[in-house]
Amino acid sequence: MSIFEYAPAPESRAVVNLRPSYGLFINGEFVDGTGESFKTISPATEEVLAEISEASAADVDLAVKAARAAYTRVWSRMSGADRGKYLYRIARILQERAREFAVLETLDNGKPIKESRDVDVPVAAAHFFYHAGWADKLEYAALGPNPRPHGVVGQVIPWNFPMLMLAWKIAPALATGNTVVLKPAETTPLTALLFAEVCQQAELPPGVVNIVTGAGTTGQAIVDHPGIDKIAFTGSTGVGKAIARAIAGTRKKATLELGGKAANIIFDDAPIDQAVEGIINGIFFNQGHVCCAGSRLLVQESIADEVEARLKRRLQTLRVGDPLDKNTDVGAINSRGQLTRITELVAAGEAEGAQRWDTGCPLPDKGFWFRPTVFTGVSQTHRIAQEEIFGPVVSMLTFRTPQEAVAKANNTPYGLSAGIWTDKGSRILWMADQLRAGVVWANTFNRFDPASPFGGYKESGYGREGGRHGLAAYVVTGESA
Ligand code: NAP
Ligand code: MG
Repeated sequence: MSIFEYAPAPESRAVVNLRPSYGLFINGEFVDGTGESFKTISPATEEVLAEISEASAADVDLAVKAARAAYTRVWSRMSGADRGKYLYRIARILQERAREFAVLETLDNGKPIKESRDVDVPVAAAHFFYHAGWADKLEYAALGPNPRPHGVVGQVIPWNFPMLMLAWKIAPALATGNTVVLKPAETTPLTALLFAEVCQQAELPPGVVNIVTGAGTTGQAIVDHPGIDKIAFTGSTGVGKAIARAIAGTRKKATLELGGKAANIIFDDAPIDQAVEGIINGIFFNQGHVCCAGSRLLVQESIADEVEARLKRRLQTLRVGDPLDKNTDVGAINSRGQLTRITELVAAGEAEGAQRWDTGCPLPDKGFWFRPTVFTGVSQTHRIAQEEIFGPVVSMLTFRTPQEAVAKANNTPYGLSAGIWTDKGSRILWMADQLRAGVVWANTFNRFDPASPFGGYKESGYGREGGRHGLAAYVVTGESA
């Protein structure tokens, strides 16, 4: 159903200055790692972008020591107002270099340029601005008496929002006076390495931020290092549980932001066209690689046929392809491994008896791609209704009463987010109160603001990021020892 064609509108790559290889960022400098190296590719073309160092346990040790020295000698002694100046400086540089960050993020991750340009990078800068403002006001943030930093924080982040997750981690840690050792995901290290250059440009004292690239074993080396005071992790529930086990019995603190299987609930009095846009934003934004994605669509039975028809019609207008094209709505799947997981779960959905529909749109020859897909006839016990697919696939279920909607929405081991679409304010408030989810959106979805705490119930993790609640996770309070 092509109404008219779009001319190609590719964003230029010229703004990005890719180096053939990157070292680790330790104590304010790029250094060679002692481990192996690996390649990061563009998932849209499989082109090799750069050679990346894999940090060994010895490299992680150097980074932790640099962070400790910077903490003791400089950062914990600096006034909050002075820390704030560095954070403002970083925020402004991110804005100045926004296009460079957006293009690099899209190259390395595969997400559409319109998303990296309009969401990831501006919201990342907003996190630095927001936390810069708190740096000299921690005494007034109602965190408890005498708020002070933990010390050295180990941070491990996933590939779905590389730059944004970095900002969620580093901005509050620095504002509260901690220093950090951060590991970006193996498939998306490039914007974290560009951020290291921003730290140099901002003249951040060496060792306050250290970036160590690598895969799971590098992450594990951070978690296991005795010099780490707190872990901040975002990723899968499986790895989150392994981290909780690894630090059990130690003095290390942790916040875990894990997976989700959000219900997006559409009542019969909702404005249907707006709800359809919300369903699409909820699950096809960032190819569905979103922890809080609205992957379980719960539609009131009386309007289910109409919603299904309008959703499928609208999906056929989504443009899937070159992520650097400014018209693209759905980009590449981040890795071959993730594509395999999506394909396997979708096959399980069909095998268990749900009806699969996709847009049938053409896909590029190279790279990793998956068509926007809708499952109907899904029941609660199907794997596609229980497990996180983390791809552009929505499972549609129906309900008759608000009570049934609540029961079905809460019937998951996760509890990260939910959406409610209805005309009635009282129903929104009643539902939000019943839903066991850290974030509940009403008549919107996937809205992020640094002032708003984000985090999970149940197996979606513990601790909050953003707002005063997020600051609380980075301080200890009470009498000092
Ligand atoms: P993942 O496999 O858990 O990886 C997350 C990070 O942990 C990566 O940097 C990974 O390294 C590293 N890692 C792997 N094994 C480790 C270990 N044993 N010890 C320490 N670190 C280890 O998750 P993913 O598949 O990349 O990301 C998708 C998941 O993240 C989804 O479940 C999604 O829901 C969740 N997520 C949650 C939030 C939230 O705020 N709640 C936000 C975004 C994503 P490598 O990948 O480099 O090997
Ligand atoms: Mg990559």
